[in-house]
Amino acid sequence: MKKIVILGGGIAGVESAIHLRKYNFDVELISDRDYLYIYPISIWIPTKEKKFEDVILPMEDLAKVHGFKFTKGKVTKVNKDSFVLENGEIRNDFDYLIIALGQSKKKHKGIEYTYSICSKPEETLKYSEKLDEAIKKGRGTLTFGFGGNPKAKEAVRGGPIFELLFNVDYHLRKKGIRDNFQLVFFSPMPKPGERLGEKALKLMDKMFKKLNIKTITGKKIKQFVEDGIIFEDDTKQISDLTCFIAAGDGHPAVKEGDLPKTEAGFIKIDKYNKVEGLENVYAVGDSAALEGPPWKAKQGHLAEVMARNTAFNIALKEGLEKGEPKSYVEHINIMCLMDMGNGGGLAYRDDKKALLIPLPIIGHWMKKAWGVYYKLSKLGKIPRLPGM
Ligand SMILES: Cc1cc2nc3c(=O)[nH]c(=O)nc-3n(C[C@H](O)[C@H](O)[C@H](O)COP(=O)(O)OP(=O)(O)OC[C@H]3O[C@@H](n4cnc5c(N)ncnc54)[C@H](O)[C@@H]3O)c2cc1C
Repeated sequence: MKKIVILGGGIAGVESAIHLRKYNFDVELISDRDYLYIYPISIWIPTKEKKFEDVILPMEDLAKVHGFKFTKGKVTKVNKDSFVLENGEIRNDFDYLIIALGQSKKKHKGIEYTYSICSKPEETLKYSEKLDEAIKKGRGTLTFGFGGNPKAKEAVRGGPIFELLFNVDYHLRKKGIRDNFQLVFFSPMPKPGERLGEKALKLMDKMFKKLNIKTITGKKIKQFVEDGIIFEDDTKQISDLTCFIAAGDGHPAVKEGDLPKTEAGFIKIDKYNKVEGLENVYAVGDSAALEGPPWKAKQGHLAEVMARNTAFNIALKEGLEKGEPKSYVEHINIMCLMDMGNGGGLAYRDDKKALLIPLPIIGHWMKKAWGVYYKLSKLGKIPRLPGM
């Protein structure tokens, strides 16, 4: 049976392993964390609705249920025909290679004065501690922002910062101390969240006003400092605690190697997830450069489509499937159940429509239910719903 090595044990890597195992391929998954971190439900760690243990799945459990081999290791370089591990080992013992390493973040001056919930899980835990300290003090200014990458517009990650901001607002209200805090949203983009459509922008604006959240948009960030943010016009927003989600950038191990990549360092693939010019190397999830409409975004559900398609396309090449190869491009849409602490909104965008449907109360519980479904279905404890 053909040997397939997957680099990265996130949403895309694990979904690839699960689906490749259905064809009985010999699958090894290499990742630097011995757990799958479920980013979409990690937004509740700072407000204590979830603990770290609630938002992970141990890799050994996944490996046992689905019958793949898990190896803990850090990849430092990926080339066209091999990859290198941190211990110096060069590996080329595979028939197919799937790269699912995710992305890194753009560096900003003074970024060390900020925290992120979209980086390593340890960062979210640090932010959570800092938020506790701020709450203990009883008053202060909390700022929340996200930035863009002009070289890869689809690598912007705005949804989670809105979710965190609304959740922190609700958390403070529940404690009866919201009036002691100034909450500020900032972004260099003049219309952050624009990719969700005009209606969504208006609704978001209404929410900010209703919840008394100050907004600073359309001003480039010059640098972060210990007690705030300095903008291009040298104005300063004081901040006792800054959560900033820098835009995505190519993964360092990809940048280091000789795979075809975009200027930002994302792997160039065709619509069947095959790396440009290579026959047996595929890239899935956030590591890959996306084709498609200008509002496209890197998302978990698209990462899963790419993973399932890749498993099918490899099986097709090996004569284990019939039909045409599957393309991810027609699956590009934005679908996000945006949590707001005491409710949520379903954001949806495709070529024909852009919607943000408010879901008071139920939206929050729908996202929580998705988290339970995700964990149980990946562990094979409940059947999977088609396409999910
Ligand atoms: C806070 C947050 C909330 C989100 N909410 C949603 C949502 O509601 N809906 C949605 O669709 N999408 C959401 N997303 C986006 C979604 O989580 C990502 O698109 C998805 O995780 C991408 O999967 P991936 O496997 O490509 O990357 P990742 O999930 O980042 O996984 C990368 C994996 O590679 C491993 N790795 C990294 N570097 C190395 C290395 N050098 N060596 C070995 N292993 C390495 C990591 O440990 C990790 O296991 C959210 C993202 C964040 C951050």
